[in-house]
Amino acid sequence: MASCPECGGGVPAANVERGEILPCPDCGAELEVRSVEPLVLELAPEIQEDWGE
Ligand SMILES: [Zn+2]
Repeated sequence: MASCPECGGGVPAANVERGEILPCPDCGAELEVRSVEPLVLELAPEIQEDWGE
């Protein structure tokens, strides 16, 4: 179990691979696995549609 850098909630992270994106079950943030050992989760850059201005 890893913890979400956004909300601090527990994120199930068994058998994950580096670069994998895990959604946080608590806040819904997308977390990228930056490192497996030790397990490091980082908020994935949000990709948003560019609707123009
Ligand atoms: Zn979270």
